[in-house]
Amino acid sequence: MGAGERIVANSPSGRFVQKIVQSGLYTHVDDRGLGIMATDTITCKAVLADGIGVVRLAIKAGVIASLVEAEETAATLPGLLFPGFADIHVHAREYPRPSDADTQALTRWEAACRKETFATAGRAAINGGATLFAAMPNDDLPPDTPEAYSRKTVVASASDCPVILYAAVTASSEPWADLPYKVYLDDRPSACAFASWTDLETALTRYRGCRVFFHAEDPLVLNRAASDGPRWRTRPPEAEISAVARILDLTHHLGLKSHICHVSTRQAVTLIDEYNRTASARVTCEATPHHLFFSVDKGKVFSGTGAAPERPDLLECNPPLRPESDRRFLLDALKSGMVDVLASDHAPHTLTDKDNGAPGMPHLDTLGPFAGWLMQECGFLPTRIVSVLSSAPARIMQADLGIPHGAIEPGFAASFTLLGLDGSTLVHGSRIPGRGTLETRCGWSPFSGIALPAVVRGTIIDGKKYSFLGVVVK
Ligand SMILES: [Zn+2]
Repeated sequence: MGAGERIVANSPSGRFVQKIVQSGLYTHVDDRGLGIMATDTITCKAVLADGIGVVRLAIKAGVIASLVEAEETAATLPGLLFPGFADIHVHAREYPRPSDADTQALTRWEAACRKETFATAGRAAINGGATLFAAMPNDDLPPDTPEAYSRKTVVASASDCPVILYAAVTASSEPWADLPYKVYLDDRPSACAFASWTDLETALTRYRGCRVFFHAEDPLVLNRAASDGPRWRTRPPEAEISAVARILDLTHHLGLKSHICHVSTRQAVTLIDEYNRTASARVTCEATPHHLFFSVDKGKVFSGTGAAPERPDLLECNPPLRPESDRRFLLDALKSGMVDVLASDHAPHTLTDKDNGAPGMPHLDTLGPFAGWLMQECGFLPTRIVSVLSSAPARIMQADLGIPHGAIEPGFAASFTLLGLDGSTLVHGSRIPGRGTLETRCGWSPFSGIALPAVVRGTIIDGKKYSFLGVVVK
């Protein structure tokens, strides 16, 4: 450790040691031991708009104040600096605590918090290199009014990683600000899922011009499908394809700014692409790590490395895994730009919940290493990774962000993900050897037993530095 540096051991998680450079550049260290920079410089290899370059960045009050080219030999960081990764699809599970008088609601809230809280989701996000995430509203008490939304904002402030909250569209809700509004479609009723297209259309007439994000599975098709068995049988591709077609129609008629979450089939992506060729406003869409990495053929699950996953039973999700041909199509579509965003759909469920059929899987701790797999094994250029994980998410969420995010340019947020592409991240059970325990409270990963070819060496959020594996981000 160099002169003037010190280790702050009381990092938020208490599990990794955060090193803060004490060079007189920090104005203060806050009560949680985080260094907050007033001004600082970073010299490193970075992914810029037109490719990789070596640059010296001056950071002032959490913003990139200036950028100048530097000599290759001047780079001091062990890795490639990306504009901070933003994950726009996360289930943080926690929501405002119900009153003690409502014991049933309290029991459900405690069960949700056993899966994840904003504090643990924030740590998992930082561990995986994310500098921002957007939290879904499918809570027991969905945030569908200004009051409920602002109560949830207070709860979300426990995350060290900045959070954007989705508001829920429900049967009686109305928009009240330029927020991301989430629609759920399902054949099983819940606090915020629509089982009827008529009810949804009635609700959406109040959301003209709004940003609306869709879980696209047609409840009518789900209703007709097999009622038991694995999800790839009970939630067939037709459910997604039919829902996407109807959503595109609603988008056109109601002037919505639509985004389709977790697309999983060739036909759905093709429908969106065809729509975008003539539409005045682009409908964006996202793909998840699990649909890009795992596939199911004749009931058998395969992984992107060719090996069978350790626990295929944990990979049940909505929409379900698809055949290998869809997985390969989705990878190409994400690479070519037909799919705009990589979003994790981080769904932390306890292993007991998984045994009871809960859909989805956690991804935040492994987001950066997964980006490494896309680059090293699937031919994604670093500039494409910036598009799918930084700039496109930032564009979609621009109204929720004070200053521009998603590029390494003066005036943009000083939020960065530092990826080492010379190492790999092996998940083993609930641990990442060399990094410690997974930070997600649910404590497991679908990538257990799999080495992803990149290591997150640092996460910098609005100028605050989180460093790992003994690396000093300087
Ligand atoms: Zn989701």
